[in-house]
Amino acid sequence: MATGKIGVTTENIFPVIKKFLYSDHEIFLRELVSNAIDATQKLKTLSSFGEFKGELGEMNVKVTVDKEKGTLTVSDHGIGMDADDIEKYINQIAFSGAEEFLEKYKDTANSIIGHFGLGFYSAFMVSKKVEIRSLSYKEGAKAVSWVCDGSPEYEMNEIEKSERGTDVILYIDDDNKEFLEQTRIDTLLKKYCRFLPVPVVSGKEQEWKDGKYVDTDKDRVINATEPLWTKKPADLTDKDYLDFYHELRPGEEDPMFWIHLNVDYPFTLTGILYFPKIKTNIDLQKNRIQLYCNQVYVTDQVEGVVPEFMMLMQGVIDSPDIPLNVSRSYLQADQQVKKISSYISKKVAEKLDRMFKDDRKAFEEKWNDIEVFIKYGMLTDEKFYDASKKFFLLKDVNNNYYTLEEYKKLVEAEQTDKEGNIIYLYANDRNAQYSYIQGAEDKGYNVLLLDGQLDQHLVSMLETKLEKTRFVRVDSDTPERLIRKKDEKNADLTPLQADLLTGIFRSQLPEEKDVNFIVEYNALGENDAPAVITQNEMMRRMKEMAAMQPGMNFYGNMPDMYSLVVNSEQPAVKKIVSDAQTALDGEVSPIRSEVEKTNEEITALRNSKDESKEDSAKADLDKQINEKEKIVGELREKEEKLVKDYASKQAVVKQIIDLALLQSNLLKGEALSAFIRRSISLL
Ligand code: ADP
Repeated sequence: MATGKIGVTTENIFPVIKKFLYSDHEIFLRELVSNAIDATQKLKTLSSFGEFKGELGEMNVKVTVDKEKGTLTVSDHGIGMDADDIEKYINQIAFSGAEEFLEKYKDTANSIIGHFGLGFYSAFMVSKKVEIRSLSYKEGAKAVSWVCDGSPEYEMNEIEKSERGTDVILYIDDDNKEFLEQTRIDTLLKKYCRFLPVPVVSGKEQEWKDGKYVDTDKDRVINATEPLWTKKPADLTDKDYLDFYHELRPGEEDPMFWIHLNVDYPFTLTGILYFPKIKTNIDLQKNRIQLYCNQVYVTDQVEGVVPEFMMLMQGVIDSPDIPLNVSRSYLQADQQVKKISSYISKKVAEKLDRMFKDDRKAFEEKWNDIEVFIKYGMLTDEKFYDASKKFFLLKDVNNNYYTLEEYKKLVEAEQTDKEGNIIYLYANDRNAQYSYIQGAEDKGYNVLLLDGQLDQHLVSMLETKLEKTRFVRVDSDTPERLIRKKDEKNADLTPLQADLLTGIFRSQLPEEKDVNFIVEYNALGENDAPAVITQNEMMRRMKEMAAMQPGMNFYGNMPDMYSLVVNSEQPAVKKIVSDAQTALDGEVSPIRSEVEKTNEEITALRNSKDESKEDSAKADLDKQINEKEKIVGELREKEEKLVKDYASKQAVVKQIIDLALLQSNLLKGEALSAFIRRSISLL
């Protein structure tokens, strides 16, 4: 018998392990089973190189629960350990300052296990005593046992053991009795060991007998030792992929397509990523991709390993090259991980490109389900954007699809403005903007439909990427002015007419707290609507952006700004202007001449003030200017009131405004019912 002290500088590492690793204590099973698998694989390798000449025999790993004895045993038939091995691998814990270290990294306890050779010791998280019984594969090796009760002292003995391999026996402590339940162990094995490369057996196969399930004699194998991703894509059918998908994610709808990843260089990575249907809001569920390391389940928190937009996918990634046992921030900065991430992104782009080329029609049919994903990728991953140019599609309001190149060709001729910008018109609500779409189409323009949740961002991005291209929403101006091709036709109005027109309409606009209107007029043609509401593209975007960024309050709090563009060529408008002129000329013209005269006087006074050198004279002139300005103000108010009183009696003015509001969904509630009443009375 030999006793000794475990080679750690800190006396009491076990309490530390127990305390800090408590939350993750179930992973001890993964660690022990992984060790057993490693030992098994190592022996297989030695055998294949001829370094081990004996019989391999049955090479499974067994997990046995013995409730009566209070033990959980993990057994393998791998390389085993002799006394020297145990001394080297188990007794000498390969780092110092364990306590300090654990204190520092307590939040990432799971990650450090294994990385610093703590894997085996995680057994102490759930055990009051751990025993190893092992027989090495080496010729003439003597079987040994190692027992430790959680203090740094251990005991080693020679024992009788005829079978090659290792049993690790955990004497489960009172706080962790749950690990003596076969069902709990089953759950853990399903979670961590489902795809391990060596058969893991635990419990017995069951059969239905006399109204209940009973154990048979047959050992139950927990895992699929050759999960789909380890196989060659050429050997697999669609059904294989779908079956595997449903095994991973029971109860979900079939995915749309999948990508089988397989790289050897410059890193090793295999996996299958499935593409689910994404119809509703993007929900970035972070647990849809499982990460494996040589078929050992590691985590489903894959941020940093796969590009962000890939989080919308589901499936498995297996790579021994991802440094799993380090903190997340380290992982994200790791060059290897970056390479992996961009490789995956490239593969996904290639797959999409192939789908597009092979069957464009089918691709277009899938578009609604995949666009969010593609757009998300374009927005967040420069390389993916570049690759996606080949298959990214723009959809118009009539459900035609175009690549960026095709679309440019389509609209270039008709939709280039006088500055040489190509204007991409778009709607974000086919119904609400119906009349604007119609107006644009009547002019021979094409209108895109950009109603997805990422489209606002996409528009801004495409404007920076595409040369001399601007996106303009169809309701941001009158059809005539959406794309300004030449200098505008001037409205044929005298200053008095122009003032009357804007004054009349301004005085009748609805007064709302969060909405501001300005009145403009424009010669739109006599067959066009008498007035339309437009919303300046830039202003609207500022507000939209502000709404998304809590920091930008200034724009967020601004009222909505709309323009009421009155069509000075429309007959009803023309009539309003000429009637107003007739009715008001007598009263308004004298006021206007008075204003003009007073303004001239003000100018004269200002000039004398500039010339005068004496302060007292200047002050006197200032006083006079002020008085005159006051007079102008009063006159203006008087004119405004006259116009307003007149306008309020012209039902047709309100009617024109309400029609414009109605067309852009701004007429609601009380105003809407007033409109209906007025319409009826006008009949
Ligand atoms: P790691 O597995 O990260 O090296 P562990 O503490 O889990 O750290 O194990 C330390 C070493 O002990 C292993 O590298 C291996 O050499 C040896 N070992 C552990 N379990 C077994 C086993 N079941 N059979 C053979 N050797 C084992």
